[in-house]
Amino acid sequence: MKERLLGKTPEELKQIALSAGLPAFAGKQIARWLYVNRVRTISEMTNLSKAGREALAAIAEVGMLEPLDVQVSADGTKKYLFPVRCPVGAGHDVEESCVEAVMIPEADRKTLCVSSQAGCKMGCKFCMTGRQGFHGNLGAADILSQFFAIDEAGELTNTVFMGMGEPLDNWEEVKRVITVLTADWGLAWSPKRITLSTIGVIPTLRRFLDECKCHLAVSLHNPFPEERLEMMPVQKAWTAAEVVRLLKTYDFTGQRRVSFEYTVFDGWNNTPRHADALVRLLRGLECRINLIRFHRIPDFPYGPASARAMEEFRDMLSEGGVTATIRASRGEDIFAACGLLAGKHNKG
Ligand code: SF4
Repeated sequence: MKERLLGKTPEELKQIALSAGLPAFAGKQIARWLYVNRVRTISEMTNLSKAGREALAAIAEVGMLEPLDVQVSADGTKKYLFPVRCPVGAGHDVEESCVEAVMIPEADRKTLCVSSQAGCKMGCKFCMTGRQGFHGNLGAADILSQFFAIDEAGELTNTVFMGMGEPLDNWEEVKRVITVLTADWGLAWSPKRITLSTIGVIPTLRRFLDECKCHLAVSLHNPFPEERLEMMPVQKAWTAAEVVRLLKTYDFTGQRRVSFEYTVFDGWNNTPRHADALVRLLRGLECRINLIRFHRIPDFPYGPASARAMEEFRDMLSEGGVTATIRASRGEDIFAACGLLAGKHNKG
């Protein structure tokens, strides 16, 4: 299989260039073609010699994916479907699958919600991605294609790693993408424009906190261990209390922010008892809670809370001293809202 250039640093590109007989400085030129000009093919890298381009194309490719399909919501949200080929097992086998990226337009920004894995191992009961099982990790080129191959590629202002998969279960590739997004030779975004969402994979969470400055969102959903375990098997390996303890050793009073995602299942996790426990759990940590309306999925015992019940729960948290906001739901009509991404190709 050819080496995919997208996602590589200038230093790595230099090594690939050298092995194709190109001069060392070609590494920087290739990085510019990839991340500034965003070319799809090596033949477009016209400041490399023709022979050099041919030698490079013999061992490498850009690796950009094109979307198979796009759906547009009544609220302007767009869901792009990408075909991916994930390596499986120790050999050279690949599994074909699809992932989705969601572009959410707002008055002053355009946010891309990206997928980091095809499917997911984590098995959260309320999540359509979790229900389809795990098909493989995306490479950095697969993730960057979600940024570069969509109609709004040049207009994106923010990104959230909140699509399909658990990004901290694929940290090496996700870190590569964050490096491309934030490096001067890449897109030169401030890390403040990037939020990574996790259910709390502690070993790589620690690395994320130490190795980059992006914002963090933790999927919490219930403060009680035995209740959280009912929905989120991860609680067995790494408890929410351990995650919060770890976060309390970092500083979130400056530029970097931490928030907690809390999908409200009516009657299951929005009682005064839950609000009290959340306030106690998060006391001493500078953070906010985002309350998310649940989108009903098949064969699931709980339903969404009413707007009124959401507001009441928000007020209980605010009275306890925890800032809570109700997140507006986007793209529900095209199954692009939180927890609904399933990577299904609906046409043809
Ligand atoms: Fe995976 Fe996130 Fe879905 Fe849980 S909620 S199954 S971590 S994609």
